[in-house]
Amino acid sequence: MKRRLSFISPLLAMLLFIAACSQVALTGRNQFTMIPESQLNAMSFSEYDNLLSEYEIESGTADAQLVKTVGVRIKNSVETYFAQEGMSDQLEGYEWEVNLLVDDDMVNAFCMPGGKVGVFTGMMDIAETPGQLATVMGHEVAHAIADHGNERMSQQLITSLGGVALAVALRDKPQETQMLALAAFGLGTQIGILLPYSRTHESEADHLGLIFMAMAGYDPHEAVDFWENMAAMGGAAPPEWLSTHPSHETRIENLTEWMPEAMQYYQNSNK
Ligand SMILES: [Zn+2]
Repeated sequence: MKRRLSFISPLLAMLLFIAACSQVALTGRNQFTMIPESQLNAMSFSEYDNLLSEYEIESGTADAQLVKTVGVRIKNSVETYFAQEGMSDQLEGYEWEVNLLVDDDMVNAFCMPGGKVGVFTGMMDIAETPGQLATVMGHEVAHAIADHGNERMSQQLITSLGGVALAVALRDKPQETQMLALAAFGLGTQIGILLPYSRTHESEADHLGLIFMAMAGYDPHEAVDFWENMAAMGGAAPPEWLSTHPSHETRIENLTEWMPEAMQYYQNSNK
């Protein structure tokens, strides 16, 4: 019996791996994700609700209005892009929502799986123009639509919980699973778990974010200004930004390389 199990499980693991290997929309990179989208979105939506109950939501101010406007324009860009590529079904489980959360010390923004966006008021001092705000929001939305949360959570399930299935982890270790989800969704700093995005994820989010902001009618050159501002924060930058590779120089180099492509989208956009 034992021998049989040990024979079957690697085979099952292999099948799971094959089943879970997918490609990132737009860039075509192969990625490993093992959490069903419906389950991931359900976790994301409930964590987002938790977050909204913990923070004051700014409304009725110019900043709050700006965050909503930029958010809607980025969302429209994503939907247009996916429609043009014939991949709209990949956005089916999305329930977009954009909020400005009051915390002046938090220079951060996020987009959780399924389109749940949050910008902290601390970010509004660094993102000095609508175009700069579109840079960071485009970047965060790109992390979500490229499924980076699923990829990170899948990796973490394997490394920290020994590869147990999500259903088992949710049942037996609800607290750990919740923390893991938050860290994987880019909210590690709030709960004290530092889980920086990989260099690959960061570059992918920079590239896709640049396209989305351009499609939304914001000059992609403003992305360079935004990252200059972030770099100027130096040691005061929060972990999500500070610990991320690529280095500032590499990031600017990459953005410059992608600029002609982004400018084509910008010229065709409704500015
Ligand atoms: Zn990022």
